[in-house]
Amino acid sequence: MESIVKTIICPKCGKKQNFIMYPSVNVSLDPDLADKYLDGNLSILTCEDCGFSGIVEYPILYYDIEKKFSIFFSPDKTDHEAKIPDVLPVHLLPGMCLRLVHSSDDLREKIFIFRDLLDDRVVEIVKDSILREMNVRHEAKIPDYLYYAQDMFDCENRFLIFVPKKDEKYLGPIKIPFGTYEKIKMLMRGIWDRPIEGYTVVDKHWVQSAAK
Ligand SMILES: [Zn+2]
Repeated sequence: MESIVKTIICPKCGKKQNFIMYPSVNVSLDPDLADKYLDGNLSILTCEDCGFSGIVEYPILYYDIEKKFSIFFSPDKTDHEAKIPDVLPVHLLPGMCLRLVHSSDDLREKIFIFRDLLDDRVVEIVKDSILREMNVRHEAKIPDYLYYAQDMFDCENRFLIFVPKKDEKYLGPIKIPFGTYEKIKMLMRGIWDRPIEGYTVVDKHWVQSAAK
């Protein structure tokens, strides 16, 4: 896998450090690299001089030819139409889910969703309905975000696991019966008709405007 060595100035001691960046991760060719990325190991800089460690965010193109999805992570939030180099051969593009994300949490979530062969548009509505219900119940801790994490079987039941995040901290996981996802998928209107062209941000706002 192609990698680039970049010199980064340690924000603590000011000394120059070499940092290895992987601008693209092809999960089919290098599953170990993909796992390392998901564990966060590819975005941590540890200073060899003072031991400081911090997260370095840089654009990454993540793709899975087998499961047919490709996600471009751009830390620049103003970047709504990613100008992506033609990394993927044109013949691979038809039928690929292409997504643009602006945070590493979002990238991880999209990878988990597509890896589990779920539809991220439906997942957005599921998350929205979980948050609405929490609001109705006046729960003490309403998360700022929910992230899809895992598809899980427990005896005979299938669940989807979501990880809430509040004030930059992850909270205990929430289990939702798979039936809820299926029911919402059946009830969805409009979202199937809205075209997705190129690398697109598909989030709560995208789904809300498509469902109108
Ligand atoms: Zn340092």
